[in-house]
Amino acid sequence: MSIADNLQKLNASLPEGVKLVAVSKNHPVEAIREAYAAGQRIFGESRAQELAAKRKVLPDDIEWHFIGGLQSNKVKEIAPFISMIHSVASLKVLRETEKQAARTRRRVRVLLEIKLAAEESKQGLTPEECRAMLASLGTEELPHVRIAGLMTVATNTDDTQQIRQEFHRLKLLFDSLKTEFFAENPDFTELSMGMSDDYPLAIAEGSTLVRVGTRIFGQRDYSAR
Ligand SMILES: *Cc1c(COP(=O)(O)O)cnc(C)c1O
Repeated sequence: MSIADNLQKLNASLPEGVKLVAVSKNHPVEAIREAYAAGQRIFGESRAQELAAKRKVLPDDIEWHFIGGLQSNKVKEIAPFISMIHSVASLKVLRETEKQAARTRRRVRVLLEIKLAAEESKQGLTPEECRAMLASLGTEELPHVRIAGLMTVATNTDDTQQIRQEFHRLKLLFDSLKTEFFAENPDFTELSMGMSDDYPLAIAEGSTLVRVGTRIFGQRDYSAR
């Protein structure tokens, strides 16, 4: 199956209102070009340097999404062009995004990454930390940032019940935060959840953005780095 075939199959399985982020990390620009030629425009990368290098040689109308762990000192490398950051997990990174987006007079959409998975290694805010962070923002204005929703990475397990439950919890958190903090804010609309192995479960639980790599591009080649 070619990249174009994989994309076509995947797109055919996505209900209306669910967007596909093609996760191209660790894949060469040729693979991205192939997906682009097949009509894909949203791509996700998880390292600032790799993203900056790829972007330079690829078409301008690609919508880049950042999905990896993000340190505040990396924000300025991506703020001038990034469409959406899925992985904001601290007030520090949120404020840095505001600062760097303001410098280039852009608006950056961000998602708050929530840790629901059982693994210690997963990053993100706990639901309690997220609520506290939003409360602490109070009326602080972030004119160059749009908090557009939530993101999570489910536990890496074969237990589909557990995965589905985590997605369900993210949706419930989304609904309650929307009422609490975004009742009059039309920007808070996105739930980024679901990857190659679990995106159908995520869609069933209300995902609006699925982040799929392997199912489009095949296995990642880490040795080529
Ligand atoms: C790598 C990655 C993906 C894509 O994973 P696949 O299993 O290859 O689809 C999605 N989300 C995040 C945060 C990732 O790091």
